[in-house]
Amino acid sequence: AIRVAHDNRMKPAITTDGVQLEVVANVTNSSQIQKALDLGAEGVGLYRSEFVYMEFGREPTVEQQVTEYGQALSLLQGRPFVVRTLDVGGDKPLPYLPMETEENPFLGIRGARLSRLYPDMLKRQLEALIKSGLAADKDENNKPNLKIMFPMICDIHEWRELKQMTADVVNDHTGLSFELGMMVEIPSAALMSDIFAPELDFFSVGTNDLTQYTMAIDRGHPTLSAMADPIHPSILRQIKMTVDSADSHNGWVGVCGELAADPVGSIILAGLGVKELSMSVKAIPLTKSRLREVSMKQAQAMAEAALYAESAQAVRALKPEDF
Ligand code: PEP
Ligand code: MG
Repeated sequence: AIRVAHDNRMKPAITTDGVQLEVVANVTNSSQIQKALDLGAEGVGLYRSEFVYMEFGREPTVEQQVTEYGQALSLLQGRPFVVRTLDVGGDKPLPYLPMETEENPFLGIRGARLSRLYPDMLKRQLEALIKSGLAADKDENNKPNLKIMFPMICDIHEWRELKQMTADVVNDHTGLSFELGMMVEIPSAALMSDIFAPELDFFSVGTNDLTQYTMAIDRGHPTLSAMADPIHPSILRQIKMTVDSADSHNGWVGVCGELAADPVGSIILAGLGVKELSMSVKAIPLTKSRLREVSMKQAQAMAEAALYAESAQAVRALKPEDF
């Protein structure tokens, strides 16, 4: 394995022509954050909050959640904290939450769909997030940089319903400013991103599920999953659409699926106009150092070629030095 010298870990990911990418961490709870910061993470880009719900044998109380989110905010000291609301169902059941047995759980009630079924549970999570933000806000040295996003959104009415629920909770606890966004992990969301963009602050592309739903290949399939490479041009084109939509409405786009840490993928994503790359903690040092070796001009030319390539293999054959 290639090791990145300790001194270099804290350097930002700035391309040779001076464009900075934000490189942040995927974590499942606050106890992973210190390690992430030590490895050069500039914040948390995906807090998979479902793990907090799984740790407890029942739904964590608002107070328990406030403690957990508060710990994250105090470690982050004003760095971004992107929290994904409860994303269960599909491959991630919650033992204490009754769910109907479904023939195709990945095409069933998961993520935002489950939150619409149990709106009070989502409201309690939002309340906890806002309360932990308000508590951190009292500390001058620890201004919270909270961003909340919903998983598995496929339709604008779904988005509006969850946004309204958030507004209702905010009305009861005013005074905190935070960003609200959604994950793009279903093709309908990418294809309709221009409709969503005026109503939100950011998109975070989940390339793991987006690939599963675009290629119609189960993300854990024992033999087919090798064919479901998230660098496939069909995925890159959807990310490009999402970036264009966000750009027209002062929004921004991050990527929090596996592609963000891919050696070729991270450069192409930068070239497509993605601003934030969120990845597993251990991938951070090397991804940052790779981004420091290319120019944005090269990344853009490579991204353009990738969009028109015929296959994932053809994209993988592209080399930054050829651009
Ligand atoms: C994704 O789908 O790409 C993603 C980041 O979310 P998860 O892997 O937790 O489903
Ligand atoms: Mg997902």
